[in-house]
Amino acid sequence: MTDLTALTIADARYKLRAKEFSAAELTEAFVATVDGGDALNAWCEKTPDLAREQAQAADARLAAGDAPSLCGIPLGIKDLFCTNGVRSQAGSKILKDFKPPYESTVTSNLWADGAVMLGKLSMDEFAMGSSNETACYGPVISPWRRKGDETKLTPGGSSGGSAAALAAGQAMATTGTDTGGSIRQPAAFTGLVGLKPTWGRCSRWGIVAFASSLDQAGPFTRTVRDSAIMLQSMASIDEKDSTSADIPVPDYEAALTGDIKGKRIGIPKEYTIDGMPAEITRFWEEGAAHLKAQGAEIVEISLPHTKYALPAYYIVSPAECSSNLARYDGVRYGQRAELSQGDGITELYEKTRAEGFGDEVKRRIMIGTYVLSSGYYDAYYTRAQKVRRLINRDFEQAFEQVDAILTPTTPSPAFGLGEKSDPLEMYLQDIFTVTVNMAGLPGISVPAGLSSDGLPLGLQLIGKAFDEANLLNTAYALETALDFSATPEKWW
Ligand code: GLN
Repeated sequence: MTDLTALTIADARYKLRAKEFSAAELTEAFVATVDGGDALNAWCEKTPDLAREQAQAADARLAAGDAPSLCGIPLGIKDLFCTNGVRSQAGSKILKDFKPPYESTVTSNLWADGAVMLGKLSMDEFAMGSSNETACYGPVISPWRRKGDETKLTPGGSSGGSAAALAAGQAMATTGTDTGGSIRQPAAFTGLVGLKPTWGRCSRWGIVAFASSLDQAGPFTRTVRDSAIMLQSMASIDEKDSTSADIPVPDYEAALTGDIKGKRIGIPKEYTIDGMPAEITRFWEEGAAHLKAQGAEIVEISLPHTKYALPAYYIVSPAECSSNLARYDGVRYGQRAELSQGDGITELYEKTRAEGFGDEVKRRIMIGTYVLSSGYYDAYYTRAQKVRRLINRDFEQAFEQVDAILTPTTPSPAFGLGEKSDPLEMYLQDIFTVTVNMAGLPGISVPAGLSSDGLPLGLQLIGKAFDEANLLNTAYALETALDFSATPEKWW
């Protein structure tokens, strides 16, 4: 009997229709792996009853021959997505036991296409972090380990639960969000495909906001084909989000021809940093060589403002976060602090926010409030917005010459839990990914191979705005050539 939890969506879709197994059987197999995988701490809420109900409905649709693309496919959902009646806490104590009375547009789209929800996945608090260590549920542990070493490693963040669960076979795909790298970095750390679509491709309605001009939802999958299938469902034009793009959603899977002859692939000379392991450079060069062997032309390009992207991101994103998180006041949603005799509304706000937010979130709120305050606004916020424009222009000019850009996804493989205690060191994780958010472009991380320690590393492809179809096709060609098939050895 095939291990149902090792299948791709594309395989399962076919086998469900061929009646090799039912959606109910598939869901049971996943419910069992979810239950057996508590050592990873990836799930913050399990919904097996809902999953069983949805699987039954999926079987009815399959039997009736009216099965949409994701019919019966068991998924895990990042805790940042509001799910109707199911706890949605954004990894924060301040949203303790918050059960939204509505469903995010992205998850509504997935359920409308027949998908099954196994539960909610842990994440860094309000999606701020690169290691999943700021989650109020405690850190998520990667199923991957260094060769011959039992050190607990991070699956990356902020979508760490989404990456760990999928890499451990606890879902067939998962959702994530990416504000500065939170889909691509964890995907790279866990040997998965992670896609951040163009800003505006997926509706942000019902996703807890971190930095609205950067946030974007996207899928974690085992393969590029599955990524195309997931994006097809997640992407939509949504009247509830005026920034969702009024651009038709093309057939992404149909774009996967693998033919990249004549495509021009840019290699930006700025994407190396001091101390980057030589093996990352080697994988990068090999990736470029693979694309060339398939008929693409490799072009050296320059993105001169790359070095300002991270500092500018750490002004723009805290600024937006300080504004978005102002709503957590102890009056609406989740947690409210206990008050003492004589306390008034100010103490209610202060105590609730002091108790409810973790240190990293407080740090961002303080930075954000500072850079937006009068006297500092022009020096920080306005200047960061100008830098953002220049980063955009770098990409506009590059895309006059090339169809896609190839870079490493991260400057290192996964690190140990507790290893990076300095926030600045943690922020450096996003050095190759934040530029893409600043410019609103689509980016995808594809597994490149294993490091000398036996840990996955990823390569990132960056595409033109709303050109996910071509981006996915180039990623598909790269994936085929790289032929990565490693999975973590089970210890949990
Ligand atoms: N690690 C980055 C941060 O902490 C990005 C997070 C994200 O993409 N949500 O802001």
